[in-house]
Amino acid sequence: MRLARTHVLVGVDDEARLAGVDAVLAALREAVSQFDLAGEVQVVETGSLGISGHGVVIAVQPDGVYYAGVTPGDAREIAEEHLLKGRPVARLRLPTTAPVARPAEVLGRQTRLVLANCGVIDPERIEEYIAVGGYEALGRAVTEMTPEDVIEAVKKAGLRGRGGAGFPTGIKWSAVRTASDPERYVVCNADEGEPGTFKDRLILEGDPHKLLEGMAIAGYAVGAHIGIIYIRGEYALSIARIERAIADAEALGILGERVFETDFSFRVEVRPGAGAYVCGEETSLLESLEGKRGWPRIRPPYPVTHGLWGKPTVVNNVETLANVPDILRRGPAWYRTLGTPTCPGTKVYTVLGHVRYPGLVEVEMGTTLRTLIYELGGGLLPSRSLKGVLVGGAAGAFLPPRELDARLDFDSLAERAAALGSGAVLVMDESACIVDMLGSVLRFFRHESCGQCTPCRSGTEVLVRLISTLQTGQADETTLAQLIQIVDAMRVASLCPLGQSVALPVRTALAGFQDEFATHLAGRPCPPCAATARALGWAPR
Ligand code: SF4
Repeated sequence: MRLARTHVLVGVDDEARLAGVDAVLAALREAVSQFDLAGEVQVVETGSLGISGHGVVIAVQPDGVYYAGVTPGDAREIAEEHLLKGRPVARLRLPTTAPVARPAEVLGRQTRLVLANCGVIDPERIEEYIAVGGYEALGRAVTEMTPEDVIEAVKKAGLRGRGGAGFPTGIKWSAVRTASDPERYVVCNADEGEPGTFKDRLILEGDPHKLLEGMAIAGYAVGAHIGIIYIRGEYALSIARIERAIADAEALGILGERVFETDFSFRVEVRPGAGAYVCGEETSLLESLEGKRGWPRIRPPYPVTHGLWGKPTVVNNVETLANVPDILRRGPAWYRTLGTPTCPGTKVYTVLGHVRYPGLVEVEMGTTLRTLIYELGGGLLPSRSLKGVLVGGAAGAFLPPRELDARLDFDSLAERAAALGSGAVLVMDESACIVDMLGSVLRFFRHESCGQCTPCRSGTEVLVRLISTLQTGQADETTLAQLIQIVDAMRVASLCPLGQSVALPVRTALAGFQDEFATHLAGRPCPPCAATARALGWAPR
């Protein structure tokens, strides 16, 4: 078979599907064959290319040219001008206004470990994953290492859970391994429910085998023979790709009975969730898996000893497990060369909001917020200034521009009373009203509160009432103090992290944006609200 000189990588994820990527793929393939290029140009369906909000995105490699907003009608021009005559189609390239770097350069400045194969290989072809070293780590683990060796390697690497809390993964695995009950489970938490958080979806869509490999290694390490992926039900493409990946891996003897012809067996099942944010909390997730209402359990006992069906259970999220194959393949010492001494490795973020290139990025732990926004996100739109950043998703911290040099890792953010959370970084320019943003966050929590405990069930309701008075100019001098009083009570009295974490966005918004709250408190519209009212033709209040 002749090797293609040019690869046209077409990012196929749920967002691209909505933008009509299937028709673009068909049109590109037809155009390539019309110009008799089929022997030299290969059109490859791959995962997200890391750029969101720009419709269908494709990359022509090795040229490093990215096109965005591609429609079926553009296929012929791309084939004739670029693929045949070597002249990239300028009108379709992503904007390159100085000082914003070109997307290819932006992507190049990342440290892609978890995302190494996303947007590069065809996620539906197991042979492409194997060709880039996939399943080598699992093979080595089950044939050359003891389970204890594997756990020791993960501990030495210093891997910490990427679900938000940053708990050391090796310690969690060790607790399950040494539990007295021999029936154990590995559960992958793929239930992303926060607004603006979709990194795990793009990992699953772009490289499903990496997750499966990480899960199987975890299963071998802790002595589990069943792994379950609890995934958000709306993630149709992720579910389809992971199910195909499981079938392909089982067909090759990489999963299922006698993995790599050893005595180790490991089956993986996929269970779609019904869409409750609280089911991302590990004990609610386990309740849901058991067929019950997704209510958090009172801890202790913890899932490492009393998890699924009361058995020892590892619960790790997608990104955590996707780190594992490289730790074994390249060694813990190599892994520790990335990131910071206490938070080694990389972190995947969704950078969203008022940036030039919203999307998915992966950088070393300890990278600054400034780098994330101005280099990888391409900076703000021209003539716009930064108002603030919501770091860590809805349960994260509102940071003002003076915090741009904050280092993004578990410990540095904890020192600033912030958190990595879900990995969503929402950038807001001067057109955003922080009071309104906080209102959206509080309404989200009220909607998602499961209602099991009073502090959260009633607290979120009162918080929404209070923020509404601020938004409508009806607050009084006690409103801000009441907000603080309620979230502090929720932090200590709520049963699970959902209720406990509301304090972070509320406290950081009030601390970092005092002027804006003072304006609302005085019953005046802040500049963004005034601009919105003017645009909508509303009378100023
Ligand atoms: Fe449910 Fe909220 Fe209580 Fe958690 S804190 S158990 S979500 S009511």
